[in-house]
Amino acid sequence: MAKSLKEIRVNEYQAFNRNASILLLKQPGGLESFFQSIGYPFEKSGEGYRGPCPQCERFCYIGIYGNPHPIYWKCHNQSCPMREQRNELGIVRNLLGLVKALDDERNIVTAIRQIAKFLGYEGHPRMITNMNLEEDYTKMLVERKEGSS
Ligand SMILES: [Zn+2]
Repeated sequence: MAKSLKEIRVNEYQAFNRNASILLLKQPGGLESFFQSIGYPFEKSGEGYRGPCPQCERFCYIGIYGNPHPIYWKCHNQSCPMREQRNELGIVRNLLGLVKALDDERNIVTAIRQIAKFLGYEGHPRMITNMNLEEDYTKMLVERKEGSS
């Protein structure tokens, strides 16, 4: 059966998010420079980072090297409305969801543009969507484990 347009869109957002996240983690200091480029205040926290939740402005934790989201985030505030937010596009708790939530208009296209521009693919976000970085990511996870043991 053919996929619906919505399913296709969700798949594309997820592929873009996953590949863009891997590209950011691959560059030394990539995620930190990206946060700086969009004016997001953050500090190191354990293995990851913490910064203001886009919804309630208390602290949220931003984790790295996760699965299925290489970059993921979670608000610490139990009563944050973000926790209840429906995940229709499958992007709320990942990099794309965070950047979208930080955008004044909560516009996903703006979020994609910002990320693509930072990664050097301004105007060509589909080039990121269509990459296959799974082998790279597997290697990165293995190297990270070896480095920490
Ligand atoms: Zn929150």
